[in-house]
Amino acid sequence: CGIVGYVGPESNGRALDVLVEGLARLEYRGYDSAGVALVADGEIAWRKKAGKLANLRAEIEARPLPPSTTGIGHTRWATHGGPTDENAHPHLGGEDDKVALIHNGIVENFHVLKTELLEQGVRFRSETDTEVVAQLLARAYAGVGDLTEAMRAVVNRLEGAFTLLAVHADLPGTVVAARRNSPLVIGLGDGENFLGSDVAAFIGHTKQAMEVDQDQIVTITKDTVEVMGFDGTPAQGKRFEVTWDAAQ
Ligand code: GLU
Repeated sequence: CGIVGYVGPESNGRALDVLVEGLARLEYRGYDSAGVALVADGEIAWRKKAGKLANLRAEIEARPLPPSTTGIGHTRWATHGGPTDENAHPHLGGEDDKVALIHNGIVENFHVLKTELLEQGVRFRSETDTEVVAQLLARAYAGVGDLTEAMRAVVNRLEGAFTLLAVHADLPGTVVAARRNSPLVIGLGDGENFLGSDVAAFIGHTKQAMEVDQDQIVTITKDTVEVMGFDGTPAQGKRFEVTWDAAQ
C-alpha cells in the first residue's frame, strides 16, 4: 500500500530512520502490516510485523538493525494472504535470501508462476503473490548478474498492477524499482536519492522529484538515477518540484 526506498551516503548510515519516517508519512493511506529491509555487511537485515507501525518500531527496538545506507520499507494492504507477520513485506528470494522485495498491487498471474517455482523445488514462507516475484528476481539475478536487468526480465513475465522495489545483499548502495498500473515517484536529494509510492514518502527530505512513467524501471544510487522502459530503452524522467507543503 505504501512504499519507500532510500540510498544515502556512507557517512550517515541512517537508512532505517529515513524509511520508518517515510512509512509514518504514508500511514494516512491505511495498512495492516509494515516492514523494512536494509543492505548491511553483505546481508539483508529485515524486520516485519502485522499491525501498526508501532509494532514494527517495538520489534526493531527489541532486535535492533545495523546501520545501513540502503533500504526499502513497506506498509501492506493485504490482497493475497491474511495480515500476518509472515505475509508482511519484505519478502526474501534466493537460496541464500540475498534478495529483498516489496510490492504494492496485485500480480494476477502469480499462481502459474508459483506452480512453476514449486516444481523447481522453491519453498515459500508466505501466501502472497509478492513472494513469487522475490523468488523470480533472485533466480533472474543469479542468471544475469545485474539487478536492473533481472528486474526487467521478471516484470516482463508479470500481469496485473505493481510497484516493486528490490535490494540485493551484494549491492550496497543500489535500489531497483519498477511500476505498472501503480504509482512510483523518485525523490532527488544531495548525495542521497529516494523512491516512494507518493511524494509523502520523502517530503521530509527533498522537494525535488521525478515522475516515473508507466512500464518503467528505475535504478537509484546515492548520486545517480537511471530510468528505462520494460523493453530496455533508456528514458528520461520528468523533473518537478513538490509545491504543496507537507513537511510538518
Ligand atoms: N498483493 C500484495 C500482498 O497482498 C501487496 C498488497 C499491497 O499493495 O500492499 O501482499
